Amino acid sequence: MSILNADLHCHSTVSDGTLEPEALAARAKANGVELWSLTDHDEIGGQHRARAAAQALGLPYLTGTEVSVTFADVTVHIVGLGFDPDHPAMVQGLAATRGGRGERAQEMSAQLALAGIPNAYEGALRYVGNPELISRTHFARFLVESGVCRDTNEVFRKYLTEGKPGFVPHRWAKLGDAVRWIREAGGVAVIAHPARYDHSPTREYALFSEFKAHGGQAVEVVTGSHAPSEYGKYADMAIEFGLAASRGSDFHSPEESHCDLGSLPFLEGRLTPVWELLADRIQ
Ligand code: AMP
Ligand code: MN
Ligand code: MN
Ligand code: MN
Repeated sequence: MSILNADLHCHSTVSDGTLEPEALAARAKANGVELWSLTDHDEIGGQHRARAAAQALGLPYLTGTEVSVTFADVTVHIVGLGFDPDHPAMVQGLAATRGGRGERAQEMSAQLALAGIPNAYEGALRYVGNPELISRTHFARFLVESGVCRDTNEVFRKYLTEGKPGFVPHRWAKLGDAVRWIREAGGVAVIAHPARYDHSPTREYALFSEFKAHGGQAVEVVTGSHAPSEYGKYADMAIEFGLAASRGSDFHSPEESHCDLGSLPFLEGRLTPVWELLADRIQ
């Protein structure tokens, strides 16, 4: 079961991706994906469209989202898979998590104006597909379009990150709450791209321990947001903590993403694939 081209992490125009859910489904199918999930940031507004498009293509589907969490003052992402997208705990929890984004964006714009970049809020809004979900990615696209940076990687090196112009600290959901919403809605919680967090080894251990204590069941091991050299460490940690392993490209855009849907190596055979926990949730 580990030899399955599952892609359980990507983004549509419902959050900060540039393709509609239907176009992502078609791209996943064309790339040979055998099990797919759309995991928009703090949003499930694209789930019914993604599932319908996948079903029309004969592509097995799991519901998905990527919840923004603040853990030990660092932003951590928790992917939820296989939950009921109409469950009130999930619907209300995600709505509350999205709630502060508008004000945050206004503050980001004010900070950028002080750094000599005016009207960034209006500029970012032109890239937003869902008014409830304005993100740093939309600001990054505006900064590229307006010639401030050459590409979005340069944006995140020079702006919008801690200590750089345009960074506004934000308090997202609590780890225990995010895991609880996913579980109450019948899904499995997954630590997204663990190598991407600015945690000391002690804090990383605490993240895995607390996640597990809250009922979290899996971790992304093979992801487009990890370098291949990072897969082994998180495969070991999955086994050490008794977590299943997930696999996903974190695809956002044909122009920006270096990792396409369905293009990653398979999970190692020693891991328990997260889809084994979700067999009865595949649609
Ligand atoms: P937000 O949820 O508004 O804080 O935006 C987070 C999004 O910004 C992530 O999901 C990525 O799509 C993007 N992002 C953050 N850091 C980087 C980075 N270093 N390079 C490229 N994209 C990034
Ligand atoms: Mn994103
Ligand atoms: Mn993420
Ligand atoms: Mn993501």
